[in-house]
Amino acid sequence: MSAGGQPFGAAARDIPPLVTTWTTLGVLDWTTKRFTDAGLDSPRLDAQVLLAHVLACTKVQLYTQFDKPLGEAELARYRELIRRRLAGEPIAYLVGEQEFWSLPLWVDPAVLVPRRDTETLIEVVLSALPDRAAPRRVLDLCTGSGAIAVTLARELAGATVVATDVSAPAAALARRNVERHGLAARIDVREGDLWAALPADEPAFDVVVSNPPYVATGVIATLAPEVRREPVLALDGGVDGLDLVRRLVDGLPARLAPGGLVAIEHGFDQADAVRTLLAPFGEAKTKADLGGQPRVTWLVRAR
Ligand code: GLN
Repeated sequence: MSAGGQPFGAAARDIPPLVTTWTTLGVLDWTTKRFTDAGLDSPRLDAQVLLAHVLACTKVQLYTQFDKPLGEAELARYRELIRRRLAGEPIAYLVGEQEFWSLPLWVDPAVLVPRRDTETLIEVVLSALPDRAAPRRVLDLCTGSGAIAVTLARELAGATVVATDVSAPAAALARRNVERHGLAARIDVREGDLWAALPADEPAFDVVVSNPPYVATGVIATLAPEVRREPVLALDGGVDGLDLVRRLVDGLPARLAPGGLVAIEHGFDQADAVRTLLAPFGEAKTKADLGGQPRVTWLVRAR
């Protein structure tokens, strides 16, 4: 891509310039083709999102100015994002944001990109807790970007939330998302390794949720290139993927209040194992994600 201009240099000053102007629509078409050829899943959308990011506008605004010529600096920034996208970087890292439950969240390579799958966990919690205004204590373990904590705090007006993550940069990012949504008074982000992030005398929680790392170590190398750009710390769940789930369940007797709700996201093939781990607390149920895969297992602890 070039802004075009005078291809023959100063020696041909008297020849009228051969101008190839790159308009919004022109670069979108060019990039869509390039992304299609590279086998990306959503080439047009990716091209739009990256260009809207460069031009600091919305996707819709791209089409209200589709014949506007782009400047050299804009083209240079767009070209760089195209290069990084083709090298496998997730769109969310390139633009620094991802929507979750219709809320914009900051993301960076220190955290997993929030996924639609995880909205299934939000649905499970909200349908199990019809009284949204009730005061309750919520714990989100392995919060990453803070997507679950922020969403539940917004949806459950009476909730106070503790969100933990073992990664310092993840906890820092989660705090930025908490601030962004004006929830600092109701969400406390703590850095630490699962239960170790909580003091021994922390009162029990009415709700414990988690999207822990749950990919089996041996599977990590087979994941899509984009997923391998995500922090392995947020993906690797040990030999069978369930190390963190086992440690989470170990802490429930002390940390989940009687009558409390626990909901855990897991791999498509882990529902039976998670239900078995939760069996001492009652009979767990599993909900499928939008793709029809068993994704979230939950139960209400007996009183
Ligand atoms: N769903 C993620 C994947 O793409 C895994 C998320 C996790 O380990 N928590 O494999």
